[in-house]
Amino acid sequence: MSAGRGPVVLVGPSGAGKTSIAARLVAKDPARFAFSVSVTTRAPRGGERDGREYSFRSRTEFEAMIAAGELAEWAEVHGEYYGTPAANLMPAEEFSPAPVLDIDIQGARQLMRRADAALVIFILPPGPEEWIARLAGRGTESPAEIARRLRTALGELAEAPFFTEFVVNANLDDAVDEVLALVEGGAGRRRDAERPARLRQALEKAARSEIMRLAGRG
Ligand code: 5GP
Repeated sequence: MSAGRGPVVLVGPSGAGKTSIAARLVAKDPARFAFSVSVTTRAPRGGERDGREYSFRSRTEFEAMIAAGELAEWAEVHGEYYGTPAANLMPAEEFSPAPVLDIDIQGARQLMRRADAALVIFILPPGPEEWIARLAGRGTESPAEIARRLRTALGELAEAPFFTEFVVNANLDDAVDEVLALVEGGAGRRRDAERPARLRQALEKAARSEIMRLAGRG
């Protein structure tokens, strides 16, 4: 495991806050960390700029990058392609900032097979209530859409046993500090190693009962 400038890969169920942690980590120490801008075929959302949050590409362009071996990993998420350019993982110089990746679990597992210097951290939300409210959005989505998100999140949580490093995101500043401690080689100093497993069970239970409740609403 790398202490220092290897890639820092954040994974975890949607709604856990990995995007906020990645942004805060980079903002805190830009000489040390740089956000790895992925390529995607999904359309930009309001406020997103090409080359900043993502490089937005057509499916044809994305498939050409796959064929040319330009992606270190890629996956299809909700029907769109997402991938990490291999160039992002090759720092230009010895003291270049470490890339911070916010990617899905399929992509992280590909990287774990290929880039053994990567530090992969599974981010967990602190508890079911706030997490389910976040996944449910602003009440504009249909029950079917919310149930789909919850099922995806359940699939992501089910992958937790493949990971060894966990950070519970109860508070953004503390979560960023915990990620920093792991980067600096603090693995194993966790106070309560059982917590991620218990938390995961509580999250899964709540997500399942919410899916049942939504099904009842039709
Ligand atoms: P969103 O469309 O909400 O920005 O991202 C959807 C999902 O795609 C998130 O789980 C995000 O972490 C993941 N994702 C973003 N970039 C990449 C990437 O380069 N590779 C993979 N495998 N997943 C990514």
